[in-house]
Amino acid sequence: MTVSETEVFFKEQVAAWPLAERNYADLARCLTKRVGEMTVLFNPARAASSNAKTDAGSIALRPCFLCAANRPSEQRALSWRGYEILVNPFPIFDRHFTIAATSHTPQDISGRIGDMIALARMLDGYTVFFNGARCGASAPDHFHFQAAPFEPHISVECHKIEVIDDAAAVGQAELYLESIGQPRGEMVNILCYRDRVAGQLVIDIVRRKCHRPSFYGTGEGEMLLSPASVEMAGYLVTPRREDYVAVTPEIIDCMAREVAFSRDKSRGMDKHG
Ligand SMILES: [Zn+2]
Repeated sequence: MTVSETEVFFKEQVAAWPLAERNYADLARCLTKRVGEMTVLFNPARAASSNAKTDAGSIALRPCFLCAANRPSEQRALSWRGYEILVNPFPIFDRHFTIAATSHTPQDISGRIGDMIALARMLDGYTVFFNGARCGASAPDHFHFQAAPFEPHISVECHKIEVIDDAAAVGQAELYLESIGQPRGEMVNILCYRDRVAGQLVIDIVRRKCHRPSFYGTGEGEMLLSPASVEMAGYLVTPRREDYVAVTPEIIDCMAREVAFSRDKSRGMDKHG
């Protein structure tokens, strides 16, 4: 599998699937702006994902949209190892793939970091990312990575691993996840990509405190901000226009402090062992 093969697959898929074609075309017209260190994206098509109920009860009641049997008839798949590469019909970026395990198996990263590195190497120019089951995965019951061509700018605490040797990097990542009590990665966002400056693959692991900020919601003074890997990497998706308009650097800082750890604090913690 190469980037050019996925590009052909992408073009064939959107040509054959009106919903995906429309959502990718709409994306090109999406409003974006810079707020502090974040790029804020107004993307109404993401409302379903941002609003997704991911508690066990809600998950048990819905047909899994990543299982082949429940996918829309237009959706095609490219096979790769034990995964299927799918075009995400509700994109955040102008290319957005979901790489779903072929079988219905939980969003558990253990034993899969090597696959993540292999995907990032194969999809050069893309960032491959993983949202833990309790911090952003919209299908916590069906394992999946995502991939999109964006450059991460992470301003919260982040454990960075340089991929010099694949097996060593896998070992380091697993050791770190173990050390923070997250061997399955339920409360982490992980990104793997080629660092433009260093010129080599890196893995960034962002530890999370919670999934959504305390002011998440549609009531007075609340906002539909549902941060996951993409937000940790500097891109804030707002599915409602009023949130897109209202968001300020202070709100972004508040969200970051509530859902992740700050860089300064992590330095202090390292110093004290
Ligand atoms: Zn499934």
